[in-house]
Amino acid sequence: MRTEKYLVVNAGSSSLKFSLYEMPEQKELINIHVEKISLPDCFLTLKMDGNKIKKSKFIEDHAEAVKIVLQELIDNKLINSLDEIKGIGHRVLHGGEFYAESVKIDEEVIKNIESIIDLGPLHLPPAINVIRYLETIVSKDIPQVAVFDTSFHQSMPKENFLYPVPFEWYEKYGVRKYGFHGTSYRYITKVMQEKLAKEKLNLIVCHIGSGASIAAIKDSVCYNTTMGLTPLAGLMMGTRSGDIDPSIIEYICKKTNMTITETTNILNKQSGLKGICGKNDFRDVEELMIEGDNMAQLAFDMIKNTIIRFISQYYVELDGNVDAIVFTAGAGENDIDLRREVLNKLKPLGIIIDEKANDDIAKFRSKKSGIITTNDSKVAVYVEPTDEESIILMDTYTICQNI
Ligand code: AMP
Repeated sequence: MRTEKYLVVNAGSSSLKFSLYEMPEQKELINIHVEKISLPDCFLTLKMDGNKIKKSKFIEDHAEAVKIVLQELIDNKLINSLDEIKGIGHRVLHGGEFYAESVKIDEEVIKNIESIIDLGPLHLPPAINVIRYLETIVSKDIPQVAVFDTSFHQSMPKENFLYPVPFEWYEKYGVRKYGFHGTSYRYITKVMQEKLAKEKLNLIVCHIGSGASIAAIKDSVCYNTTMGLTPLAGLMMGTRSGDIDPSIIEYICKKTNMTITETTNILNKQSGLKGICGKNDFRDVEELMIEGDNMAQLAFDMIKNTIIRFISQYYVELDGNVDAIVFTAGAGENDIDLRREVLNKLKPLGIIIDEKANDDIAKFRSKKSGIITTNDSKVAVYVEPTDEESIILMDTYTICQNI
């Protein structure tokens, strides 16, 4: 089979990640991460052949970032011209109710994404800008594919995705739970289907990274999830509050004279772990805990409790019929203490932690994946590294091969 090159693009609000792959081998040739776009301290990091190079350079906007990154591919002799790229896959934050699967991008797809821009005001405009810019510089024959964070959750039943608000808010404005981290949940479901040699699985997957959510998966499709209309809902996170009483917003606006936008911004960027103890990274929080910092301990206990709460809820929603609980993403894969404390609290569900196995699994330990419960645990708990990129890459490849 001939080797072909595919690009995977992830446009964030002020960042852009580009990876070039050789297919069907899924071999990553280069990974370029542009950060702080439009800020004076903008820089890009290139990872290739095990080497890492950092370049500081002011980049005005996402279009300029794309131009620079593509030039890097040519300068590093990974491609001779853009025509060598056979397909481009984009991570798109939100597909609203339009897309339960990944799609080849055309005018209608862009119009649909534009129509829900208010659901992802920070992420959707840069994604559209990058897609539009690429359309102007690559041949029309090179397909671009959108892979949505929300698609996996489109299978949720109405009673789980609707909010108890006037129904016309849903009908007129699309107010409902959409859910995020869908590519991660798809990846973990696929891995677990292979591991357990079972097609239809009931899983509780805990994606605990800087953004965090949990999904209840029934018969291998999404049944419920913690994030909502936006990724602000559900679990307490690094900088996001997760679920709070919605009246807090009006109350704080009145008390502080802040606008709703300013207050919401604080709920997104200055809350969660950071709001309680000043640090948003689990590693920093745990370091402070070791030094005896009470606020760090409080933040850790609060986040731990939100995870326990949702696992317990989903265990019941799945009728106690759970094939596995899986921890994934930065903290899920590496935070031994967090996993231990969560699992110890889940004893009433018959879950029994294997301390040694738990201690052995992390980036810096002997294993990166495996079971962390004993044989007599009622539910097996796994740690499994997620790989959202591989889902974007495979969807793009599959769609391009079938055109
Ligand atoms: P992600 O968003 O999946 O890249 O996860 C990033 C987050 O995972 C970081 O902000 C940390 O809070 C957490 N994390 C990463 N490595 C570790 C570790 N070794 N121990 C605890 N937390 C970690």
